[in-house]
Amino acid sequence: MKCNDSREGSKIRRQQPLIIAGPCSAESPQQLLSVANELKRNGKVSYMRAGVWKPRTTPNSFEGYGSEALEWLKEVRQETGMPFATEVANEKHVYEALKFGADLLWIGARTVSNPFAVQEIAVALRGVHVPVLVKNPLSPDLKLWEGAINRLRLAGVNEVGAVHRGFTMMNSSPFRNFPMWEVALQLKANNPELMVLSDPSHISGNSAYIEILSRRALSLGFNGLMIEVHPNPQIALSDAKQQITPNQFNSIINSILNKDNTD
Ligand code: PEP
Ligand code: MN
Repeated sequence: MKCNDSREGSKIRRQQPLIIAGPCSAESPQQLLSVANELKRNGKVSYMRAGVWKPRTTPNSFEGYGSEALEWLKEVRQETGMPFATEVANEKHVYEALKFGADLLWIGARTVSNPFAVQEIAVALRGVHVPVLVKNPLSPDLKLWEGAINRLRLAGVNEVGAVHRGFTMMNSSPFRNFPMWEVALQLKANNPELMVLSDPSHISGNSAYIEILSRRALSLGFNGLMIEVHPNPQIALSDAKQQITPNQFNSIINSILNKDNTD
């Protein structure tokens, strides 16, 4: 299958720190437009994130609006100028996301745990100039994480980054996922050129900890943050407890980035 790639030479935005923010899931055109306008006003956000295919743990949970939501994202980008990022878990997702002009793709923690799926995605991305972020696998397996990154590199994807989103443990309290910062820092040490972001939303599973985890990540030298932002988190169709409002996002980002107090 041929990719319709309209972003020849597309480069990951190199702002430091790189901020990606937006809802866990794309839920409606209005939701996306409202978040995009807020993020645009914030001025520090390089990409709006929104999942359209959701890898849910429990069957019969909301699994995303798929290609219909890609159309919304494309229209919202046209209207606001905000580039968008979405998650891909197989080759079909890659072709669809590229067809709608996604500006950045990420591979989620569950998919990164499966080398067959990563290989299929890497092959689908051959010759395509779109930045790709690789989340850590669910288990603290540095080699599996690096292996996924290298599969993309070997397929010729030259803009590859990583996202630290914590690791699944039986007892990860108070967080949803155990941070194990040292695993991500080792990845960074092994790959000094690699852009490594942190995702305080999926580490914490709790909106109350976004600020403290963001500060910690930046103080440890991470290159950016991916944060879930929803206009009304209480009614979010996925990850309701960890999403923050645009106002909360503005106040956290402004306080972190405007002052030299990242710890
Ligand atoms: C997400 O980013 O919404 C997501 C499902 O993340 P993860 O793969 O880190 O669980
Ligand atoms: Mn989520």
